[in-house]
Amino acid sequence: MKNTKIIATVSDLKCDIPFLKELVKNGVNIIRLNTAHQTIEDTLGCVKKIRTVSNKIPIIIDTKGPEIRTTPLLTDPIEVKRGDKIIFRGDVSKKTSNACIYVNYNKFARDVSSGSHILYDDGEIEFVVKRKKKDSLICEVLNDGTIKGKKSLNVPGISMDLPSLTKKDKNYVEFCIKHKIDFIAHSFIRNKEDLLEVQKILDKKNSKVKLIAKIENQEGVDNIDEILEHCAGVMVARGDLAIEIPAQKVPPIQKAIIDKCVKKRKIGITATQMLHTMIENPRPTRAEISDIANAIYDGTDCIMLSGETAYGKYPIESVKVMTKVANEVEMHKDPIKRIAVETMGEGIHSFLAKSAVRATIRLPIKAILTDTLTGRTAKYLSAFKGRANIYALSYDERVMRELAFSYGVYADSVKREINPTTVFKRKIRDLISKKLLKRDDMIVILSGSFGATHGASKVEISMAGNFLK
Ligand code: PEP
Repeated sequence: MKNTKIIATVSDLKCDIPFLKELVKNGVNIIRLNTAHQTIEDTLGCVKKIRTVSNKIPIIIDTKGPEIRTTPLLTDPIEVKRGDKIIFRGDVSKKTSNACIYVNYNKFARDVSSGSHILYDDGEIEFVVKRKKKDSLICEVLNDGTIKGKKSLNVPGISMDLPSLTKKDKNYVEFCIKHKIDFIAHSFIRNKEDLLEVQKILDKKNSKVKLIAKIENQEGVDNIDEILEHCAGVMVARGDLAIEIPAQKVPPIQKAIIDKCVKKRKIGITATQMLHTMIENPRPTRAEISDIANAIYDGTDCIMLSGETAYGKYPIESVKVMTKVANEVEMHKDPIKRIAVETMGEGIHSFLAKSAVRATIRLPIKAILTDTLTGRTAKYLSAFKGRANIYALSYDERVMRELAFSYGVYADSVKREINPTTVFKRKIRDLISKKLLKRDDMIVILSGSFGATHGASKVEISMAGNFLK
């Protein structure tokens, strides 16, 4: 029962039920569907299969966001050599050829300045803008490569006047509302307005879909505080981030963003290339192990697999590596450090949560149990990043899935009982029967005496067996 949660990205090309079950059995808690190369029908097929596997697995669907891509090719892929000159133009209606690379943003030549660097397909090929004309950019190729259609382009440091949501994204937002998807991970978030645009659509339909902000450029980093106020959590999307800003600046940014998430009680996700070499190889590099470990030391809730599980040769092995690293680091991590640095002042539930986690450091406590209506108390317990597992008994199935993201929290959905101790007794019996707890193990119960809507009001500590009497 590791505390760190694993997100696996799954593609419609490999989304069969036995595969999904194997991912979950080995430690995956959340499934992400990246829609960039999928149709709505492909996505629906995946959603149905994930739901067949378990009602406890939350689904995240990514949008494309304001992304610039080359238009489809007119003929064959274009070979370019270092020193070649090539023209870029913005015109979504034209096809890319060796005469000109067209991109899907009509004001491309207007917005990109002379001297800017254009990075093709995650930096596979780099161009520098030598001359700027009214509707075209004359660029020099900085390294050899092959240009294909519909590939991503990044222009570090340049802010484009692109709408936050494409037509395809809007269709996907509607899809998420209709099919009650748990989370939308909105790409290239630059400011709160990018999130509010999606939130407005959700609110119009009274949708409970939650938003994750993917931080993948300098504007997103600069506006992180206002972004955090308008989302359920943040993904440090290091793939694009390390192209948009110098790669060496990403580790301190990653640490700062994850720390803000912990303090604001928001979900923190560390993503991309965590086990990149395992796409091709059965064993990870030492550096990849350290990268996962350091993200957990930083206080991330979730670590994410992308290509490793979406199309890699060793998806299950990758999950196993993450689980092993998480288990090891969690044993050595110092929970006192996190408790000590936390500044609180957020009310009774927060004070009680801190007391409960502090108790797990001073006493040999095996587990914390709490019942929850909105998930708030469980999220506070999680924020202290203690060692004991937190078992949350949620009165709402959707909240149960939301809590799957929170460090250390394992949630069930339960029916409300007249006497709330009934739900705790049932859970303790269940944990004992699954050998996750013994009758003489010490546990903490954080609960409320004034009904579920009033939230937590007390912390009780005793042996599991005593609560059953
Ligand atoms: C990233 O760029 O790191 C990322 C997570 O985005 P995507 O996988 O959607 O490209």
